[in-house]
Amino acid sequence: MTIDVCVPGACEAAGCVPTVCTGAGLRSNDEFFDRSTAVIPGGVNSSIRAFRSVGGRPYIVARADGARVYDVEGTEYLDLVQSYGAVILGHAHPAITAAVTAAVADGTSYGAPTPREMKLAEAISSRVPSCEQVRFMNSGTEATSTAVRLARGYTGRDRVVIFHGNFHGATDALLAAGGSGVATLGLPGTAGVPDGAVAETMVVPYNEVPTLDESVACVIVEAVAANMGVVAPDPAFLAGLRAECDRVGAVLVFDEVITGFRLGTDGAQGAYGVTPDLTTYGKVIGGGLPVGAVGGRRELMETLSPLGPVFHAGTLSGNPLATAAGLAALDHLDDGTYDELRRRARRLADGLTAACAAAGFAAQFPVVGTLVGMVCGDVDTPTDFESAKRTDEAAYGRFFHAMLDQGVAMAPGAYEAIFVGLAHDDSVIDAITERAHAAAAAAVA
Ligand SMILES: *Cc1c(COP(=O)(O)O)cnc(C)c1O
Repeated sequence: MTIDVCVPGACEAAGCVPTVCTGAGLRSNDEFFDRSTAVIPGGVNSSIRAFRSVGGRPYIVARADGARVYDVEGTEYLDLVQSYGAVILGHAHPAITAAVTAAVADGTSYGAPTPREMKLAEAISSRVPSCEQVRFMNSGTEATSTAVRLARGYTGRDRVVIFHGNFHGATDALLAAGGSGVATLGLPGTAGVPDGAVAETMVVPYNEVPTLDESVACVIVEAVAANMGVVAPDPAFLAGLRAECDRVGAVLVFDEVITGFRLGTDGAQGAYGVTPDLTTYGKVIGGGLPVGAVGGRRELMETLSPLGPVFHAGTLSGNPLATAAGLAALDHLDDGTYDELRRRARRLADGLTAACAAAGFAAQFPVVGTLVGMVCGDVDTPTDFESAKRTDEAAYGRFFHAMLDQGVAMAPGAYEAIFVGLAHDDSVIDAITERAHAAAAAAVA
């Protein structure tokens, strides 16, 4: 094992050999975080990492392996974050490491097409019938913004319908605030988004099929919502969206950045038997490297440049390292893997439920396929954003910190999913649930 920062003592304790000294002379999480905050806003490059919603300060990761993450102090955590689902095989999986290592020696980006882009597109297309063609980019955010532009260009319409509590990345047109259980139009969800950017964005409640009209270019939905906790679609919801989009000629986009190749080989669309026109991907298909993709019907996809009028480009799109890692990841995922991941998700949820119940800590762990959520407090199982918001965020913060004290890393936010992957064998899951007993007892107090 190697570690890329000089952490005397901690390295030996973690069984690591320091190979490269940063020369920073820093030893603690706090020292690294303080110095980072001087040069990086909030010390982080993705806001949730700053621990604002749970309080406290983040651990700074030195390295990770399988289900385990080690901070710069050498503390080991059993990890349920897993790069928010991007590393489904576990951290530093030998197949991913080998694929990326082999690729890197041949150069990291060329500005010309490569064989691996073709292979990854074929790998996705052969597994997901709705994706006759695939275009790659570098993040889920780029994928959703491209899908919206594509839908608008294809239909010649402007309006976009999104669901309250769904998350589609940092795309201006999709950062619209939703109203309370009602359809609203055009309220920027953050500073910096002009009214005009969301003037054509309609926000409607999740799990209700909206009535559309012929101004709608597309409906974009997390087919299983995994950014407001984990919320399952009602049985009729997705099929209802399909029918309503067909009725008015709108494009149906499934944002499968989380669910793609996580719920199954053909994602949420396979699990629920509803076929979207476009699908956005990210996370799993990059094997832990930066990637995004849009897939769909040939005739729709060929609206993209250079064949069609809708512009898309990217200096690093289809990157050799990301496509190498993505191919290695997809190689390890088949129906048997997903059966196993479903079993593990259920085992973890049952174990965590029992641990919280034993301590008298009110919490439930909804399972949707391979995804697990956590809802704190005595509340009904959420079905939309209104009900998801009833989760006790303060209680989540207490449980989160108690788990961290026990050496289990969860996401620092009450609305994030718990990610079970191939590195979480039963011994890891059972260790997590055992530690959860102590954590839940601490979180009650
Ligand atoms: C993570 C996520 C995105 C954004 O992907 P990035 O790669 O972080 O830009 C979009 N949609 C969903 C559903 C996501 O979970």
